[in-house]
Amino acid sequence: MKILVLNSGSSSIKFQLFQMDDNRSIASGLVEQIGENDSLAKIEYNGTVIEKREPIADHKIGLKIMNQLLIESTAISSLNELGGVGHRIVQGGGSFSEPVIVDEAVAKEIENLIPLAPLHNRAHLNGIEVMMEEIPNVKQVVVFDTAFHATIPKYAHMYAIPYKYYETDGVRKYGFHGTSHKYVVEEASKYLGIENLNAITLHLGNGASMAAVKDGKCIDTSMGLTPLAGLMMGTRSGDIDPALLFYLGRKYDLNIEDLDELLNKKSGLKGVCGSNDMREVESMADKGDENAQLALDMFAYRIKKYIGSYNAIIGKTDCIIFTGGIGENDIDTRARSCSELEHIGMELDLVKNNQRSKEILEISSKNSKIKILVIPTNEELEIAMQTYSLLGT
Ligand code: ADP
Repeated sequence: MKILVLNSGSSSIKFQLFQMDDNRSIASGLVEQIGENDSLAKIEYNGTVIEKREPIADHKIGLKIMNQLLIESTAISSLNELGGVGHRIVQGGGSFSEPVIVDEAVAKEIENLIPLAPLHNRAHLNGIEVMMEEIPNVKQVVVFDTAFHATIPKYAHMYAIPYKYYETDGVRKYGFHGTSHKYVVEEASKYLGIENLNAITLHLGNGASMAAVKDGKCIDTSMGLTPLAGLMMGTRSGDIDPALLFYLGRKYDLNIEDLDELLNKKSGLKGVCGSNDMREVESMADKGDENAQLALDMFAYRIKKYIGSYNAIIGKTDCIIFTGGIGENDIDTRARSCSELEHIGMELDLVKNNQRSKEILEISSKNSKIKILVIPTNEELEIAMQTYSLLGT
């Protein structure tokens, strides 16, 4: 069976086609700069790339072009050859803890969740609606970024604010990157031969989050109602004293939109040293830029604090797992985040940490009680596998 995985974002659509007999990605592509004059649509199949540059006014046209490319590249001979489509959905609210097949009620619920993730869920819904129109005979499945976090107990996902905002507006921690956290936990479970794993997972990319996993189930995560909370990120502040918003807002007459932009787009690594790209921040620090060095230290310090707190709530941690662009590649951030944690049983092997691999890497020392693993994430494959297991053979 072939499964198409779709990530329909606000101005781009990313897609990957999987052959589920052997969980293999056979084609991938994207449609970018939707709504602009020089939009790009691209597919790569069997070593051949087809690119189209033309104005793509909206998602409907973008998805039609994607469908044409899938056929033109010969990745599929007709859209009805697809066994299913798996859609990545950022916000599943409190309603979805598992992937589901889309019907009218499901689409309505995703629409109801738009206020909680305005940019994302609207764009996801566009993707679902167009694909349902284009290929009504092919089942559409939605896989939620929040689903893995549905097992977080209420005392851990509640905010200490008036209870009515939870009841009436769904204000609580939801967490994100769930598909990635779940994928790496399952990979680690297989690798270590431990069925109900106790793990701390670190997804470190432009957006960054951590999860505490006990007996294979998520019990806490660093992102919250939105992906702004928790770790320091490329352009996002992560945890702050919320009162700094009142202070800055009053002092500089900033409105809600200004403050939203300040914390989501102008903070994090970029806010401290001017660049949100970890490679650039490291090269700036190497050249003696003090703020770049400060940003690196802050980034790792926050991670270390979360490792400590998650270790406290998990009990006996079997492993910690690095993934995402930074987690998979950045030797220095891994070393900084794991340093001086021997007292909790975590010891990095600096030589092993210097290795690079597309496979699972074990980078802890022989004596380390907590294994330290690097596992390349594959959210698209995870979505394909979840879609496949729901639709059956
Ligand atoms: P996204 O959240 O957009 O999917 P990625 O997971 O691709 O992001 O991660 C992007 C981050 O990974 C960037 O900060 C980038 O600098 C960092 N990164 C990628 N490769 C390396 C590397 N070799 N060394 C250090 N950082 C890296």
